[in-house]
Amino acid sequence: MLSQKEYQETHLQLQHISTPVTSKSQRNLRKHLRNRIKEHDLAMQFPPFEPLPHIPYFINRITTEACLCQVIQAATASLEFTIDTESINIYKQTNQPALMQLQIFLPHNSSFVLLIEMYHLPNENNICFKLIHELFKIVFSQNKQLYIWGSKNELYPFVIFKLFSREHIDFSHPINLQNEFHIFWKQHYPHRSSNSRSSNTSTTDCHCETCLGIGLPWSLQNSVKFELKEYLSKQFTNEDFHIGLDPNLYQLNSNEKRYRQQLSTYASYDCLSMQRIIIQMKHKNFIFNSNSIKHVQHDLFQFSPISSDENDDTYSPIPFNPSSINQFNLVDESRALSIEFLDNNDNSHPPQVNSIVICPTQRLITLSTPTQLSKFNDLDTISSNDDDTPFTNTEIQQSPSTSRISTYLLPIHEQLSEAERRKIHNRSCTIRQRRRYYRHEIIRRNIDGRFTITQIKNILRQLYIPFNVVNISRSNITHKYSLYIGLRNPSKLHVYQYQTRYLFTTEHYNELQSTRPHSRSSSHYNRHRQP
Ligand SMILES: [Zn+2]
Repeated sequence: MLSQKEYQETHLQLQHISTPVTSKSQRNLRKHLRNRIKEHDLAMQFPPFEPLPHIPYFINRITTEACLCQVIQAATASLEFTIDTESINIYKQTNQPALMQLQIFLPHNSSFVLLIEMYHLPNENNICFKLIHELFKIVFSQNKQLYIWGSKNELYPFVIFKLFSREHIDFSHPINLQNEFHIFWKQHYPHRSSNSRSSNTSTTDCHCETCLGIGLPWSLQNSVKFELKEYLSKQFTNEDFHIGLDPNLYQLNSNEKRYRQQLSTYASYDCLSMQRIIIQMKHKNFIFNSNSIKHVQHDLFQFSPISSDENDDTYSPIPFNPSSINQFNLVDESRALSIEFLDNNDNSHPPQVNSIVICPTQRLITLSTPTQLSKFNDLDTISSNDDDTPFTNTEIQQSPSTSRISTYLLPIHEQLSEAERRKIHNRSCTIRQRRRYYRHEIIRRNIDGRFTITQIKNILRQLYIPFNVVNISRSNITHKYSLYIGLRNPSKLHVYQYQTRYLFTTEHYNELQSTRPHSRSSSHYNRHRQP
């Protein structure tokens, strides 16, 4: 934010640019000054953007193997990611790719935010380079949903770093969140003529893109402003994102550290704001148009060693060592969701709000108030069980004062009893078949728990929806039920998704009860389709 004096000076400077603007440098200066004023005005109008709880990681040549393995395991289990990139301006040249931000969605709206520093990668022959390569392979695989603000074209310049290939990008189908947000906005805020209302009000309350004067395509900053009513700073666009943001890469003075901290926060906020926009859109029942059919592997969403079993040939799991647990606390101050990192092993880095910590190893998330816990539990855990074994990816131990969620403390072979190993082995024997069943599927969250599998199957048959398997799971945390329908005809997935859109809710259940045993025709489902 500018001081009053700076603000006035900026305005004066802008007025003194001669018109018409002839030189390129004048044009750039005018653009720069206008941006400064815009940033200032936004900062005055809105509270700063507030990210959800996240753990930041720097990915560069000093990132350890153990750290990368942990990130890979999280990426394997997660289904959703946001991705963004930063470039640097080189005088009289095209922008050069410098930094990639990758966010791995974790349960309870938490996430890992990776800042992948392209100018500081390990040597290509190094195991860590191969692990980063492996990470991208997972992220670009068909069963993952990747969100990007804009087209995936911005990823192509990054192939020069050899962490992924053109083919990886070609075969991926990221959701263009910028487009989707535009569609979302048009759906939720169509133009409303003010003529029908009282004519003497000068201001229209229409929130359509035209009336709000929103330039297309939507900027991320505008979407945060209008949807979240917060200010997402854009003042660091085109800064030196190649200098090494990790404070442990080089010896730095406090100014240098602060600058890197600002750039790191800025870069991670791009992903973190996308995440909040996505959550907001989902809450408003927006259906994302993914270009690809989702190939979802639920099996992997359980933080079981199954995933590490399968990947043994590519990397070895890290033995879990309780003494290496670092903690970060969610401190309930004025901002309930600020994260403070406490590094047990190293007190030379004092905890900072939203500070970027080099390579956290296994951590515990400690939530100290019930409010925080409920915020964390906002969305239900995605846990699916089609066998009877309760298997959770997140364990919560309640104590009178604190609720501790241990997330991503990945179970390791050494720690498992014989019985547990056998259970895992048995599970992995069926994993391929299950994956085949669930490759094309519909997921309905928060269904009415009174529906039985048989009832659901009957309803699907009535609607001529061919399915392989139907499964209901109940979240151990939110106690809500989710329905998974593995489909036989993937080409009609979107049709089936539409058909089942309003089914299996409490309203649907009650309606079935009241109409029973009369009409069983599928026609009455159509009524649910009306919003
Ligand atoms: Zn309008």
